[in-house]
Amino acid sequence: MLYRVEGLVIRSTDYGEGNKIITLLTPTYGKQGIIVRGAKKLKSRYGSLAQLFTYGDYSYYRAGSLGTLNSGEIIESFRELREGLEGPAYAAYAAELTDRAINDDEAAAYLFHQLKACQIALAGGKDPQIVLRVYEMKVASSAGYAPMLEECVSCGRPEGPFRFSAVAGGALCPQCRHRDPSALELEETVWKLMRVFSALDLRRLGNITVRDSSKRQLQLVLRKWLDTHLNLNLKSRNFLDQWEKYGDLLGERVKRPEPGAETEAGEGTV
Ligand SMILES: [Zn+2]
Repeated sequence: MLYRVEGLVIRSTDYGEGNKIITLLTPTYGKQGIIVRGAKKLKSRYGSLAQLFTYGDYSYYRAGSLGTLNSGEIIESFRELREGLEGPAYAAYAAELTDRAINDDEAAAYLFHQLKACQIALAGGKDPQIVLRVYEMKVASSAGYAPMLEECVSCGRPEGPFRFSAVAGGALCPQCRHRDPSALELEETVWKLMRVFSALDLRRLGNITVRDSSKRQLQLVLRKWLDTHLNLNLKSRNFLDQWEKYGDLLGERVKRPEPGAETEAGEGTV
């Protein structure tokens, strides 16, 4: 059967002599594996359609579990995401997270638009420490693991101060915090940001400036959440960790100024 879909390449691996197998995230059919014959050949028309992060229109035949590319057009190549070191590392993390958290053939329209927005934001120079945190929340909720943030997961009380428990499923009130002694105490800003992020459509992400300490907490808390519920052990995250540590050691961790962002630390518009 011939399919025609829009898709984002979330994985691209070599296959046999000169071919590639790509995994597309599509709105209608979720993840689709497709063989792109001759993709590695120099003059291949389809080489760029098989590159990681490419957004295109793909038509392919599929009988079994794997399709074969028939033709395609690039809609947006996201070339910026393949340049340098930092961009590819962040975008590769988003792609691998998607690939690992989502099952094949599951309709994924919402996540498709969120990933596309994530790539646009990263390519446009928005703060990756914010973009990725919002995207992680989108992936978690698409996989059926949205944290409870508004009220205590255990008793339903809406009054805090809450602690965050990944095992329990989100907020724990003062009466229930004994249920998880390892529950994290978070800055009020971090709670606020997580609530905003969980409701936010990434396509509507504006400029936002967040203190480094809040970013670190956000990163830690979402990492704990994903590790507890999805347990993916992503290669791209190990790479990002090493890269970030290396930058810190050299004391020249790249600070990316945002276009039009406020200068002092604090929250901007989301
Ligand atoms: Zn409670």
